[in-house]
Amino acid sequence: MVTWPDGHVLTEVPKFFAAREPIGMHALTRGREIRTIMIGGFGWLILVFFTAGCGKPPSPGTPASPHGKLSEMSRVEGEVVLCEHKVPEKVCTKHHPELVAQFQRAHDWCQPHGVPESQCLQCHPDLTFDPLPKLPQDADVQWLSRAGEDVPNLDVHAVKGKVTIFDFYAEWCAACRKVDGHVYKMIASGDKSVAYRKMNLVEWESPLAERYVTDVPSLPFVVIYGRDGKRYTTLHGADLAALDKAIAEARRR
Ligand SMILES: [Zn+2]
Ligand SMILES: [Zn+2]
Repeated sequence: MVTWPDGHVLTEVPKFFAAREPIGMHALTRGREIRTIMIGGFGWLILVFFTAGCGKPPSPGTPASPHGKLSEMSRVEGEVVLCEHKVPEKVCTKHHPELVAQFQRAHDWCQPHGVPESQCLQCHPDLTFDPLPKLPQDADVQWLSRAGEDVPNLDVHAVKGKVTIFDFYAEWCAACRKVDGHVYKMIASGDKSVAYRKMNLVEWESPLAERYVTDVPSLPFVVIYGRDGKRYTTLHGADLAALDKAIAEARRR
């Protein structure tokens, strides 16, 4: 049994520990198997439980969650200097308490830990503060959904002759930033063989999420189409090595 940092307790071993998919990006949680229970008279048993993806507790920033939004306010431009709290010193609220109100106004605040959600490494061990590289003007990056609105068919958005990466993400998903940063670097380095299509799910209940991620245990969720314009594979979680492998294989199609 393991306790999620926000108090959820995993009471049984998820089924999908047993099942393996062809390309493995496995996180360790699945919303349906997470239940909140009290442990004896001793209060909560606290074990830190890390995952390589954003699992399915209530979407942060919604009334059901004491957690705020992961805004971009903790990402700084240029060279990033991390303080002893392992966040960019410029925006660390422990060093700069005058910034607290600003973060709270943006709903970027983790109540349980008293730091901005976008700096809470307890809730988001995958947080990265690397600024995204600047993309060239002709970078093939487009948003198909910015606010969780439905995209009925991915096939029509696949770009023939390129590997198309459909990225289902949410702003509160720290692991999603890893995939984003990785693909941005690939494109910024001049790789023209990749088309990147981004879709913001916003929350687990959005029309976009209902269509594509009801059976997906964690974000980011990535769908990859080969050069032939056909769907090749799907991945979830932030396993960058598996992503590279899948892209390389999709290039040969
Ligand atoms: Zn600090
Ligand atoms: Zn927190």
